[in-house]
Amino acid sequence: MELWLATSNKGKVSEYKIGLRDLTDLKLFTQNDIPSFTPRPEDGKTFLENAQIKARTLKAVKPGVWILGEDSGLEVEGLNNLPGIHTARYAGPKASDNENIAKLLKMMTIRPIQNRRARFVCSTVVFTPTGEEWHFEGALSGNIATKPSGQMGFGYDPVFVPEGQTQTLAELGPGYKSQNTHRAIALKAFLEKLKSV
Ligand code: IMP
Repeated sequence: MELWLATSNKGKVSEYKIGLRDLTDLKLFTQNDIPSFTPRPEDGKTFLENAQIKARTLKAVKPGVWILGEDSGLEVEGLNNLPGIHTARYAGPKASDNENIAKLLKMMTIRPIQNRRARFVCSTVVFTPTGEEWHFEGALSGNIATKPSGQMGFGYDPVFVPEGQTQTLAELGPGYKSQNTHRAIALKAFLEKLKSV
């Protein structure tokens, strides 16, 4: 099966490679494999709308193959569920992971926030080669640490401690992430659906 990922995020791509490794006939590509590809602005109001924008934009230039688009982010209870759909650009349009983490920790100390509960969410949109649109969701609950720890993963992994764990996702690493995250849960739902068709 030929599957195209509507992302250029290297962290996500390496997690999909792990999550999809049991599909023996898989040929995996990303939008980066199309040199002229231009992403559309993610101006949806929800994670699902943004995932649809990503998947549809890639489908327009790659019809007739499997397409997977995903939008994910972090909702922090003490910040009224921000950064939410702004997670990737929380500290600015071209913000690095470290800048985003620094902004998050700052927002939680300017006005000291006791409630550090948070969740990662992931909306995944898949187009089948015949154009059917499938939706899958995943979430991972946890807490925001007071300082970054760990070197693995990407994004906010160094400050996210999953419920029931004492280490951050960046310390727990790909073995843990590939089984438990918002992305892994949505991906497993997709793989289950694939088995049923
Ligand atoms: P997107 O590429 O527009 O979906 O942006 C999602 C952003 O959320 C990423 O750039 C990361 O900052 C963050 N994010 C999503 N999933 C994860 C994860 O598994 N670990 C850490 N950060 C994540």
